[in-house]
Amino acid sequence: MTYEQMLALAREKLAPRQYGKYFSAGYVSAVLEGANGKYYCGVNLDLACGLGFCAERNAASSMVTDGETVFRRAVCVGEDGSLMTPCGSCREFLLQLSPENAKAEFLVGADPVETMPLSAFMPLPWQTFGKEK
Ligand SMILES: [Zn+2]
Repeated sequence: MTYEQMLALAREKLAPRQYGKYFSAGYVSAVLEGANGKYYCGVNLDLACGLGFCAERNAASSMVTDGETVFRRAVCVGEDGSLMTPCGSCREFLLQLSPENAKAEFLVGADPVETMPLSAFMPLPWQTFGKEK
């Protein structure tokens, strides 16, 4: 799948909805290309209790459920379909799934295609066990 196709898929999955008073979803959409070659989609979930999560982590959760922890490329879009970069929590979350994810490329420009690796967003990631040698 090209970045253009990933972007189209991310936009297709956008579906802003309010589910009653305490829950809304679909305002942000993400597509991850797993190292296994499969594509994983997710949308954000916002709950009044604060237990919602981002589209990126939703997509990554589906990927992990499928037995994959490494992704190669990602596209994230906001409610209007414009490109977004992952929030700080997602950056850390994705890095902790696998250190290999530091090399994963995020689409940051569509025309022309421009990407940045996750490592550029997280030059000094948090490490539970200190610096690895
Ligand atoms: Zn996030």
